[in-house]
Amino acid sequence: MQKEGFDAYLVGGCVRDLLLGREPKDFDVVTNADPDQVRKVFRNCRLIGRRFRLAHVHFGREIIEVATFRGSGEEQNDNQVLNKEGRLLRDNVYGTIEEDVWRRDFTVNALYYNIKDFSVVDYVGGMTDHKTGTLKLIGDPETRFREDPVRMLRAVRFAVKLGFKLDPECERAMHNDVQLLAGIPPARLYDEALKLFLSGYALQTFEMLRHYGLFQMLFPSTENSLAVEDNSFPRLLLIKALENSDNRIAMGKTVTAYFLLAAFLWEPVRMLVKEKMAQGEVEFIAYQDAANEVISRQIKSTALPRHISLAMREVWSMQPKFNARIGSKPSRLLSHPRFRAGYDFLVLRAETGGADPELAEWWTKYQNANENEQRKMTQPPRRAQNNKSGRKRSYHRKAKDNSPKTEP
Ligand code: ATP
Ligand code: MG
Repeated sequence: MQKEGFDAYLVGGCVRDLLLGREPKDFDVVTNADPDQVRKVFRNCRLIGRRFRLAHVHFGREIIEVATFRGSGEEQNDNQVLNKEGRLLRDNVYGTIEEDVWRRDFTVNALYYNIKDFSVVDYVGGMTDHKTGTLKLIGDPETRFREDPVRMLRAVRFAVKLGFKLDPECERAMHNDVQLLAGIPPARLYDEALKLFLSGYALQTFEMLRHYGLFQMLFPSTENSLAVEDNSFPRLLLIKALENSDNRIAMGKTVTAYFLLAAFLWEPVRMLVKEKMAQGEVEFIAYQDAANEVISRQIKSTALPRHISLAMREVWSMQPKFNARIGSKPSRLLSHPRFRAGYDFLVLRAETGGADPELAEWWTKYQNANENEQRKMTQPPRRAQNNKSGRKRSYHRKAKDNSPKTEP
């Protein structure tokens, strides 16, 4: 880029993370070249984005995001659109590096690393805040949160991830502006929720989001269910799920969004199932109906892509099926494509007081048993011989599931 006479800087998360001695997740580059000029320099480049036009330069499997300096937008024009609450809907105003700084969120995210001479350019005191571990918004916090309320979620995400504290002014503004998240498209909140909960610090993030009243904006029915906690076990299940997820990430294992989200919404589903069954609905219908209701309410705040909500439904509707241990049902359940997730969920419930631990142990044993043992495990129990006449009566009942139904 420099050969063609353009300036280029590394900026944002990668500079921040490099200064902390961490490996950056990705690299963002800013330049004074506009996207079309970037495309002319790099053949392996695609232009993307509606809200900001960006160039993605592909190096093998790596993608480097190259953005053009954004302008101050002082004078409003066709390229910058605010809504009535002051939220930025579109801004494609190109500008200089000095102007670009003011469009970033936190001072520690606004450090520019000059690729030409390896110097760090800092216009907003980002280095000082970096040293003291402070997350400070650039400019007036209220205005910045109004421009983009998602910055409140980003504040929590970075505070947890970096171990930084929030600047008191930023904190104050956050208390006043929480409701603004209601205006953010649910699909964007879903993307943000994934970053919040799948980054390895889910538990701490959850606690901090709740502390600032942000969690209720993302998962209102979960928040409501926490308010009516009985014996504290809904909260326990959620916490355990978050903890497990963090531990898995720490061990380099994969985590699935749907499992965690199924845990988030389990308590609302469970409560609704209970209600519906009390009104006489059959158990499996009650699960289906409850899942539908909980999901359609949920996606008004944080969206759930179809494949995710489908998987969540499967995990939920499998739960009552674990109660059937006699006959052919267990082997059918075992061959369910999502058995593993359903079973893990049962274990999670058992560990947190929501299911009988003996039931979870039975399933652990059952799935590891050979065919012969499995057949034995699913045979109906022999009745006690209390026949007064002493006549031996062996009865070979057709294997039938008559295991007791437990409460959801
Ligand atoms: P991560 O480690 O999660 O990638 P990051 O700081 O790189 O953190 P990105 O979402 O990749 O975060 O954004 C890159 C940079 O773009 C940020 O550091 C910030 O300077 C700027 N930025 C991103 N989103 C916003 C926003 N909503 N408002 C203002 N600036 C933003
Ligand atoms: Mg980044």
